[in-house]
Amino acid sequence: MASQFVDLHTHSTASDGTCAPADVVRLAHAAGLAGLALTDHDTVAGLPEAAAEAARLGLAFLPGIEISAIPPMPDGTLHILGYGIDPASPVLTEMTRALRDARATRNPRIVARLQELGIDITMDEVLAHARTQQQAGAERREHRDQSAAPDPSDPPTPVIGRPHIAALLVKRGVVPTMRDAFNEYLAQGGQAYFDKERLTPRDAITRIRQSGGVAVCAHPVQLRTTNDAHLEQVLKDLTDLGLEGLEVLHSDHTPALTEKYSALADKYALLKSGGSDFHGANKKDIPLGLANGRQIPRAWMDAITDRATARKHTP
Ligand code: AMP
Ligand code: ZN
Ligand code: FE
Ligand code: FE
Repeated sequence: MASQFVDLHTHSTASDGTCAPADVVRLAHAAGLAGLALTDHDTVAGLPEAAAEAARLGLAFLPGIEISAIPPMPDGTLHILGYGIDPASPVLTEMTRALRDARATRNPRIVARLQELGIDITMDEVLAHARTQQQAGAERREHRDQSAAPDPSDPPTPVIGRPHIAALLVKRGVVPTMRDAFNEYLAQGGQAYFDKERLTPRDAITRIRQSGGVAVCAHPVQLRTTNDAHLEQVLKDLTDLGLEGLEVLHSDHTPALTEKYSALADKYALLKSGGSDFHGANKKDIPLGLANGRQIPRAWMDAITDRATARKHTP
């Protein structure tokens, strides 16, 4: 019987993952998944390569993106997944350009602070390291399967995030692990933490919808809402803004949280989503296709795909 499981939250070398987009698809195929969504931060650059590989291997593919919005709690995060977006949408192009500009403002500030702390790294070295990771991802894929579609000769520069800086700090021996890099320097409260300019939740959701996508609240555990009533209010507010789904299964969710989010999704008629949040070697303990040990039902992917398709047929 065909597999009934999918992964709807994954990152490639187009952002802060370490596997090429086509390689993420190949890993999904090897893991026996029936479908996959690629949801890189702030970019759709990996989608054509991933879609082509999915078509070649017979996997269902849902184009996606993950956008950071202003969170309701200052120490939390609000990430909105956009599923079924049209990668050619001008609204999307403009939004991702602005989001990358915000990173281009923040990342050098982080590096400058690290330099002040006596750590000898430059922004050029961060970029070069990200490029090297990207090329290594593409080469691994070629070694595994000569029949795979060729890589684009010059893939776009990866969207640079804190994991790239963390990986360079590990490579340089400044810290032993990525986790230490975040705890000491890059996470909120770390010595070199800087926030980046974010979209309001309204803008993030509206623009995803205008790009033909279905907006889904990612890993609600990371919202850090104060209690269940607060969480419910936040979800209700987001739903009023056009949110259509909730990520119920995620690697950060305990079984009890998954039960809670599932009940909330039912209560507010939200589509259910789930994924690993795979980042390759940048998050070594997160395997593709599993959300804290649990598999994600294919029916969830089909329902999201149907919603996005229906949207495109109703002006
Ligand atoms: P950025 O989008 O550049 O702010 O980086 C955010 C990304 O860094 C997230 O998507 C995660 O992949 C990663 N990240 C954030 N916080 C941590 C942490 N405490 N430990 C490890 N990775 C983290
Ligand atoms: Zn990430
Ligand atoms: Fe996220
Ligand atoms: Fe993610």
